[in-house]
Amino acid sequence: MTAGVPVTDRAAMIANEPLRRHTTLHVGGPADWFLKIGAAQGDEPLRDALRWAASEGVPVTVIGGGSNMLVADGGVAGLVIKVLTPRPMIQIDRTDPAAPIVTGHAGMLISGFAEACGERGLAGLEWAVGLPGTLGGAVANNAGAHGGEMSTSFLDATLIRYDGTPEIVTLGDLAYTYRHSAIKDGTRRGVLTTVRVRLSPGDPAQLRARAGEYHAWRKGAQPQAASAGSLFQNPPGDAAGRLIEACGLKGFTVGQAQVSPVHANFIVNLGKASAADVLAVGDHCRACVRAQFGIELQYEVQRIGRWAAREAEQHDE
Ligand SMILES: Cc1cc2nc3c(=O)[nH]c(=O)nc-3n(C[C@H](O)[C@H](O)[C@H](O)COP(=O)(O)OP(=O)(O)OC[C@H]3O[C@@H](n4cnc5c(N)ncnc54)[C@H](O)[C@@H]3O)c2cc1C
Repeated sequence: MTAGVPVTDRAAMIANEPLRRHTTLHVGGPADWFLKIGAAQGDEPLRDALRWAASEGVPVTVIGGGSNMLVADGGVAGLVIKVLTPRPMIQIDRTDPAAPIVTGHAGMLISGFAEACGERGLAGLEWAVGLPGTLGGAVANNAGAHGGEMSTSFLDATLIRYDGTPEIVTLGDLAYTYRHSAIKDGTRRGVLTTVRVRLSPGDPAQLRARAGEYHAWRKGAQPQAASAGSLFQNPPGDAAGRLIEACGLKGFTVGQAQVSPVHANFIVNLGKASAADVLAVGDHCRACVRAQFGIELQYEVQRIGRWAAREAEQHDE
């Protein structure tokens, strides 16, 4: 726990907030300090909080929907900022009718953002309808599905650096690769607030139908239980789920964490799983795939927080 009380009078920070309330896996210990921020507050309280953290030497971690994270049972040191804006309010610039530009807040749910674009005849994000998490998380992770991904549509964004100063980041700044960006790996540090994407014109009914197909596929092919999405990246030319299933691990359980019987690359929380349970299941899958196929699976889910020394040692790759 950091000493002292946050100085900002505009930002309502909470001490010792359990992060299991803020992750889709429903796992994770407390954040020393926690601040939820959305479009309604504007960037000032966020900048105040970041300046406070910088002046006190408090580490900062940013989350959105917490849908691609495994948070340690020991919680997260310092300040955790959650960027969430419940309503999908978008602004559209059709100056170039062939390439309309849509502006949204990073804290909007990506699914609602994508749906709102489709309803207004803006094509390019249908793959994201039904995807958990926020627009900011999708930008940071280069989220994608059904052959689409965020880097294809991303134009630019406001990034509030950890010293509280804003900058505009463009496509080239984010060093996008598969499910990866400079923001995710921490080489570009800051909090995304306003995001702009460039889309193309489309027919709302067709876009709705395509998004509906993708969403229905997701519901059938993926478990509906609490998870953090795909635990492992797909190795080149193969699928992590296929390899884990071929090892006979569907249903494999440690404590309350289980390899989903629906999709073997998803680990689900049966109720009260700990982060250690999830990691134990993941590591067992890795060990079996390594032994049977000689393939080293890499975690896609981001591991954050205070892990026990033994766990940290085993997982530094
Ligand atoms: C059931 C299920 C299905 C899924 N299917 C897919 C899929 O098909 N394709 C796919 O790509 N992913 C999938 N995911 C993973 C996840 O939904 C995406 O990666 C999503 O984009 C993460 O968004 P988030 O807001 O939850 O980010 P978080 O998990 O909260 O954070 C992810 C990263 O983004 C950073 N970040 C978040 N918000 C900001 C911000 N405002 N500013 C700066 N950095 C920020 C965080 O620091 C972290 O590095 C799935 C997850 C689940 C639970």
